[in-house]
Amino acid sequence: MSTTALKPHQKELFGQPIGLYILFLTEMWERFSYYGMRALLVLYMTTETMGDDRGPGLGWSNQEALALYGWYTMLVYVMSIPGGMIADKLVGQKKAVLLGAIVLCLGHGVLVLTDIWAFYTGLGLVILGVGLLKPNISTMVGGLYKEGDIRRDKGFSIFYIGINLGSLLATMIVGLVVAEWGWHAGFGLAGIVMLLGLINYVAGQKYLTQVGNFEPPKKDDPNEISYGKLYGKLLKSPTQLVFTLVLLLISLYGWYTLEWGYGLLFIFLTAVISLLMMIYKELETQVYKDRFMVLLLSFIMVIVFWGAFEQAGGLMNLYTESKVDRVLFGWEIPTVMFQSLNAGFIILFATVVASYWAKRKLKGKEGSSLFKMAVGIIIMGFGFLFMVFAAMEFEKSGTSSMIWLVLAYLFHTIGELCLSPVALSFITKLTPVKYASLMMGVYFAATGLGSKVAGIVGEAASDFGEYTIFLGILIFTVIIGSLFIMLLKPLKRLTHGAEDNEREMHNDEAEGFELADPDLHNN
Ligand code: GLN
Repeated sequence: MSTTALKPHQKELFGQPIGLYILFLTEMWERFSYYGMRALLVLYMTTETMGDDRGPGLGWSNQEALALYGWYTMLVYVMSIPGGMIADKLVGQKKAVLLGAIVLCLGHGVLVLTDIWAFYTGLGLVILGVGLLKPNISTMVGGLYKEGDIRRDKGFSIFYIGINLGSLLATMIVGLVVAEWGWHAGFGLAGIVMLLGLINYVAGQKYLTQVGNFEPPKKDDPNEISYGKLYGKLLKSPTQLVFTLVLLLISLYGWYTLEWGYGLLFIFLTAVISLLMMIYKELETQVYKDRFMVLLLSFIMVIVFWGAFEQAGGLMNLYTESKVDRVLFGWEIPTVMFQSLNAGFIILFATVVASYWAKRKLKGKEGSSLFKMAVGIIIMGFGFLFMVFAAMEFEKSGTSSMIWLVLAYLFHTIGELCLSPVALSFITKLTPVKYASLMMGVYFAATGLGSKVAGIVGEAASDFGEYTIFLGILIFTVIIGSLFIMLLKPLKRLTHGAEDNEREMHNDEAEGFELADPDLHNN
């Protein structure tokens, strides 16, 4: 590779575009603020209003706290759909990330205040900010690589380390800050750190000139998505229309029988599903259609995975606080710090897991993204076996050892590494460039639905007990993962070789490049 006269965005460090490290750092600080806050949330809500040495909490019951936690962690990711659309239609991914970072600084800033309005306003702003930032920064990572560049998976694994470095630092530091100066100091720290993310992103712009730019719509451009037109065509597509109406009726039924929040959520999901159906219909070739279908099917795994995994910040967090012996060498470890196990294990094992899969693939063994994702679900599911042991020990002796938690988080993490970075990369391989931001948004929304499921399952522990819940999750996840492994062959056929023939490519090979275009290697 020649190194002469390279423009900043073409320069590389350790074989990866420098832009990757700018996005890595921005996301690292953003995740610091997000995970720092997430670790505190249920604990803050369930602390008595009289308070303890961390200051007064909101005095809510476990069930109330987990319900809000479920809505919050869901909305944070569901907002990725409008976030992706705003990037596509109005400002481009690069500016959407900038806007998201600014809104996040405001949100965390507001959370420093102790009033209840500030609590809700702050959460609302964080939801908007993450929705703008998270899907678009991930799409920008994909945009750094050309079609078929094998460095893409590794790039996403490195980016994933950034995410978890942020999470690790947050859960180590925020717990200590809260123990020393109280809840709102913890929230404030998240805000300061987000400001660092913003500064870092603005300063690194020259390395990102090639990605995330807004292209104003040209008239009759085939690459332009018109959501209005797609919904318009729905009216002329009888099958899709009937399906949409049925979903709408179910949503309205949900509105009346459950809370209004569920009604709104179902209506939103109906709108998204009908949009996806129309996009499928509009895709030009069978290759595009098949890939789109397989991507949507893989989202089932995504929902199941996060539905189980997200017990971490909710039920497992509360379990740690009240039922785990946290004393190590005479020091009681703050509950929040257990949240750092996941991130710590990611940093330790991310490259090990990525190299394991790469080696397998080189040996000609199964290494498709779908396979990795299914294996990931099963491994994560087995983590709950240790939580079952923890619950059994508690029933017997009135406390449970922290070793079960450590093992559970270890398995959860290995599972996450098989699924999450792989899924991000998979989307950017399978989606035509036109729909890249939208589909990244849909992916995060699927993880958000998983979080909501996690909240509902966690709440059910009040009625059924932790033992039953942990055992149920174990059984269910192993069944779903195994089903996908059994269906691997037909599903892989539908990807039409999107992951075959990947090779190393560098940024000075071409000036402009785009995300996966199936026609390039499927004639
Ligand atoms: N832990 C990962 C992150 O924060 C994945 C979260 C998700 O996809 N829901 O980015």
